[in-house]
Order: sequence, then structure tokens, then C-alpha cells
Amino acid sequence: MINVTKTFLPPQEEYQLILKKVWEDGWITNRGALVKALEEQLKAYLSIPNIICMTNGTLPLQIAIKALGLQGEIITTPFSYVATTSSIVWEGCKPVFVDIHPDYLTIDETKIEAAITPKTSAILATHVFGNPCDVETIDAIAKKHHLKVIYDAAHCFGVQYKDQSIFNYGDISTCSFHATKLFHTGEGGAIVFKDDGLYNDFYYHHNFGHKGNEDFFGLGINAKMSELQAAMGLALFPYLNIILESRRSIVDFYNRQLQDTKLKFLKFRDHTNWNYSYYPIIFKNETQLLNVVHALNAADIFPRRYFYPSLDNLPYLKNQHCQISNQIAASILCLPLYHDLTEKQQTRIVELIKAHL
Ligand SMILES: *Cc1c(COP(=O)(O)O)cnc(C)c1O
Repeated sequence: MINVTKTFLPPQEEYQLILKKVWEDGWITNRGALVKALEEQLKAYLSIPNIICMTNGTLPLQIAIKALGLQGEIITTPFSYVATTSSIVWEGCKPVFVDIHPDYLTIDETKIEAAITPKTSAILATHVFGNPCDVETIDAIAKKHHLKVIYDAAHCFGVQYKDQSIFNYGDISTCSFHATKLFHTGEGGAIVFKDDGLYNDFYYHHNFGHKGNEDFFGLGINAKMSELQAAMGLALFPYLNIILESRRSIVDFYNRQLQDTKLKFLKFRDHTNWNYSYYPIIFKNETQLLNVVHALNAADIFPRRYFYPSLDNLPYLKNQHCQISNQIAASILCLPLYHDLTEKQQTRIVELIKAHL
């Protein structure tokens, strides 16, 4: 079976070697040595000022909204994973969708201002498949209207825009280290931010609001990363180059093999140093997509419809419709992409696609 992705696992002995420290110290969570070490490595590798690792990539979104005290309406994208929208709703705010750009697939920055009302408190946008939003324009709009900017950067591990980490744009970026992501800790995630002054605030929020053992700073939740999760991240670090290189050659192969078709591909924003995280292709229409999916499934190959459905269709939301996002969601498919996908397997995938276009 070939899935859309496959988790990269480091050699088991290397994971166990790192876990030895956990056994020696008898310290398995609550900000142990491994979480601290992972945060230091991430800061150095990504060149980012502040990071707090958390237990998944969704709680950082919720904590960002909570800690910034956001209320009312949050402008967001309908073309993302459900966590982007559900976090807004979970925090008692209203998601206001702005449609996406048909080529970049990120929020259409030219339509943001028209969606701003006196109730708007922030913009929460996703760098889709690691492709940056128009961060400059969004920044200018946010400044003009006094809005906060949060980026769901779950797909963006290692992505650089204009020679620095994409995590450094906006007030806050969040990342996911879920097992399906390029860099993972099984389950895991992080919040990244520039303002050192926010550190305690986010830290307390992710640890029940504790300020010391007996004092409370305010409301909090439990979003702590455990030592077992951090150990996976640390064990993976030495393999990052291998992971990225193998993905790059797989993407190059798809590019070469599919360039003579009428399929549409993701358009990258200029000055982006990408991470080869996903390989989306866009069909003429949904019928064509379904034909290809059926043919691939019959051959035991399981691409995924990322993202489907467009989030304006969520059952707990009403009365918003984003035409371009719906059109893209109906016709986009992410092809298998992972470190040890072979050229032979890729050739089979490409042949099946071409035979059913
Ligand atoms: C994976 C993902 C998330 C959620 O991350 P988890 O670690 O699974 O909680 C949020 N947003 C996007 C865009 C994602 O792809």
C-alpha cells in the first residue's frame, strides 16, 4: 500500500539512547531536559527567537487566540485543515472567511480589507502546503486596522521567505509536529513568536495557568509536550537533510513526469525557499479527480484530498460561501510524497494519472 505520506522513523536504538536520560532522571514530562534541548535545537536550526513546544499543533492556535485576548471576528481562510477554523470557534470567536488566491491557494490579501468590521480582532491565515501568504500586505493591513496576525504554519517546517524563517512573520506562528508532518514528534507542535514579553504569558497558558506551584497567573490549559515526544524530535534531527533531500528529488521527478499534462500546479510565491512538504495537483474538475482517485485506489495507492471540503461548508458554520476555495477543494489532490517512495512507485502513480486524465 502506498499512502499519501509515511512517517519517518529514526533508528530505534537512537531513539532509545536519547530515552536513556529519561530513565536515569526519572523525569518524563513537565518541562524536562529533552523538551528544553529540543527547543534550543529548533531555535538554532530555524533561527527563531522564541518557541514553546506543545503537545500538538492545534493547542498553540487556541492558546494564541486566548492569550492575545482576541474576541469577536477573526478573518481567516477556508482552505486549510479544520483545526484553523475549529480553534477560532472553540475560543468563542467567529471565523470570517476571505476567499483564496486561485494560484497561490493562500488567503486573497486583496479581499481582506472588505471583510474587516468594527468587530474584527485578528487575521489567522495558513501558509498552505508551506507556500507563504502575502505577509507584507497582510502586515500592512493589520497595522492600519490594529489587528493581530497569527499564521497557521503547520506545513512550514524549514520554509524560508526572503532569507528568514517563515515563522518569523506575523505576531505569532504555530507549527505542527504530527506524525504526518515533515518534522514530527509523534504528536506535537509549537508556538513561535518574536516578542520576548509574551513568553511568560504563553508559557503559563500552556501549563494550567500555573505561576509556580501554588500561584496562578490566570486561566490555562494543559498543552505540555512530554519527554517521550521531545526524544522523537531529537532523534529525527540528524536525518533532516536526508528527509529534505529525498523529498526534493521526489518532487523533481513528479515535476518532470507531469509537466506535459494539462494539470495545474501550486504556484509559489517569489523568494520562497520551500520544504517539499506536499505535492498537490489540480484537475480540470472533480469528475476527473475522482476518476484518477478510483484508479489509484484500485492499485492500492491512496493520495489525499487536501483540503476537502472547503471549510465554509463545516456543519457548525452558516451563510458564508467562498467560490474559489470550493472550486479548488473539489479538484485538488495531494500525491504520495515521503522519504522512501521509489522512482518505480512514482512511475506507476504517474502512469495511472496520465491514463485517466
Ligand atoms: C496538521 C495541521 C494542524 C493541526 O496540527 P495537529 O498537530 O495535528 O494538532 C493545523 N493546521 C494545519 C494547516 C495542519 O495541517
